[in-house]
Amino acid sequence: MQKGRIGVTTDNIFPIIKKFLYSDHEIFLRELISNAVDATQKLKTLSNLGELKGDLGDLTIRVKADRKKKTLTVTDQGIGMTDKEIDKYINEIAFSSANEFLEKYKNQENAIIGHFGLGFYSSFMVSEKVEIFTKSYKKGAKAVKWECDGTPEYHLEEADKEIRGTEVVLHLDKDSKDFLEDHKIEELLKKYCRFLPVPIAFGKEKEWKDGKETELDKDKIINETNPLWTRKPADLKDEDYKKFYSDLYPFVDEPLFNIHLNVDYPFKLTGILYFPKIRSNFEIQKNKIQLYCNQVYVTDSVEGIVPEFLTLLHGVIDSPDIPLNVSRSFLQSDSNVKKISSHITKKVADRMHEIFKNDRAQFEKKWDDLRLFIEYGMITEEKFYEKAANFALFKNTDGKYFTFDEYEKLIKDNQTDKDKTLIYLYATDKDKQYGYIESARNKGYDVLLFDGQLDAHFINHLEQKFKSCRFTRVDSEVVDNLIRKEDRKDSKLSKQQQDDLVPVFNGQLPKNANFSITFESLNEQDIPVQITQSEFMRRMKDMAQLGGGLGFYGDMPDSYSVVINSNHELILRVAEEKDKKTGNAIQKIDDKIKPIKANKEELDNANRDKKDEEISQADKDRIKDLDDKMKDLNNKREKILSDFGSKYKLVKQLIDIGLLSNNMLKGEDLNKFVKRSIELL
Ligand code: ADP
Repeated sequence: MQKGRIGVTTDNIFPIIKKFLYSDHEIFLRELISNAVDATQKLKTLSNLGELKGDLGDLTIRVKADRKKKTLTVTDQGIGMTDKEIDKYINEIAFSSANEFLEKYKNQENAIIGHFGLGFYSSFMVSEKVEIFTKSYKKGAKAVKWECDGTPEYHLEEADKEIRGTEVVLHLDKDSKDFLEDHKIEELLKKYCRFLPVPIAFGKEKEWKDGKETELDKDKIINETNPLWTRKPADLKDEDYKKFYSDLYPFVDEPLFNIHLNVDYPFKLTGILYFPKIRSNFEIQKNKIQLYCNQVYVTDSVEGIVPEFLTLLHGVIDSPDIPLNVSRSFLQSDSNVKKISSHITKKVADRMHEIFKNDRAQFEKKWDDLRLFIEYGMITEEKFYEKAANFALFKNTDGKYFTFDEYEKLIKDNQTDKDKTLIYLYATDKDKQYGYIESARNKGYDVLLFDGQLDAHFINHLEQKFKSCRFTRVDSEVVDNLIRKEDRKDSKLSKQQQDDLVPVFNGQLPKNANFSITFESLNEQDIPVQITQSEFMRRMKDMAQLGGGLGFYGDMPDSYSVVINSNHELILRVAEEKDKKTGNAIQKIDDKIKPIKANKEELDNANRDKKDEEISQADKDRIKDLDDKMKDLNNKREKILSDFGSKYKLVKQLIDIGLLSNNMLKGEDLNKFVKRSIELL
């Protein structure tokens, strides 16, 4: 028997392992089974190379729990270890046999399992004692038992073991009893070992017979040793990919497309990525990609390894070239990871382009489910934008699809304004903006539909990308102003008339938002009053809602413009009626205002070039007095006009029509509108 100290420099390595090295204790099982798989693969490699003769026998790895003895055992029939190897590989912790093995056989193509780092010693995270029984495949090798109770002292002695391979027995500590439960072990095996390349048995197959469950004498294999991504794409059918998807994500809608990745150089990477249907709420779709390292499950959080937008995809990526035992921030700067990331981006873009070219009809059909993903990619990854600009689609309010180029050609002639800016008109809600869409189309304009979750950002992005263009929502201006082509025609209402109508309408506007009245000299047949919302303000608010760091805008009340058509017959009628009803009273006030105004102008002129302290107190007092009088008269004037407005039903009716065509007339107001309409008719 041999006693010794493990080659570590501190007495306290085990408590450190326990507490700090792995936040997730459960990964010990992955590490032990990886070692077992490793040993089995090495045996197969040796056999393939002819260094080992004869039948390899059963290579199944077995996991057993003994609740009485409180042990968990992992047994393999791999290459095993001699006493010298135990010394070297187990006792000298820093030494990795895998490296040496790789060195020796590095030009062989057979896969050799990579490794994760601390490996075997992670079993001390859950054990008070660990035993290894092992017998090497080498001729004449003697079986040995190694034992260690968590102090750096170990025991090594000869043991009875007939069968080649290694058995690791964990005596679980009292905090880790969970790992003796069947369901817990099954859960871990399913999570980490589901696609390992060597069969792993846990428990026995069961069968229902005569109304009760009986155990059969047949191992229950928990893993799929040849998962889909390791197979040749040429051998696989569409159904195979769909089935694999539903195995990975039960109860999720069928995916739209898939990509089978298979890279050998400059790094090794295989995998299958799926495009899920994403309509909204994309946050919950993130992080469904599973990352494997030679079929060993590592994580389902691939942030930092693939670009942000690709985390929306589903599926598996398997690469021995992704460094796994390092921090995320390190990953992002790792050059291999960068290469992998840009390679996947390219592959994804190429695949999309290929589908677009080969089957545009199908691509269009799936576009609504794909577009959030593509827009996200285009906004966040320049490389992806460059490629995707060839196949990304615009959809118009008719449900027709166009590439960016096609669309530009379509609207170029009719939608370029007098400053040579190309105006892309869009709607975000076909029903709510119906009236605006119609009037734009009646003018021969085309209107795009941007009703997606990311569209506010996407539009901003496109405006930066496209040359001299602007995106304008159909309801942000009256139709004549959406695309300004020549200068305005004359207004039938004078400036003074327009100013007088402001208080007439103002008093009748709803109080739940900010409204400001403007006049436009539109066509006589355009509607008399329209409500529009400034493109800028609306976008800022939309983005604030999406969390673009614009909270300030989110808190502002909605503001709208009330656009009055100063050429419409009904507006002219309001002006006439106003003159009839208020003309005299207004005239009287204006007569009073006139001399005051003249007086004040005279005073202002006299003091124009003086500094404040040079103006005499007497003048200052007179100016103030005149100002007050004028204010007072103006208030009276305004009051007369707004009183008139509040009594004149046509004013309220016109405002309500404007609100109604913008979907803003609701509840009681709508009811009143209907009643008033009947009365007026
Ligand atoms: P790693 O697997 O990362 O090299 P480990 O600490 O897990 O590190 O294992 C150290 C070495 O011990 C392995 O490289 C291997 O040579 C040997 N070893 C561990 N488990 C087994 C096993 N089940 N069969 C044969 N050799 C093993």
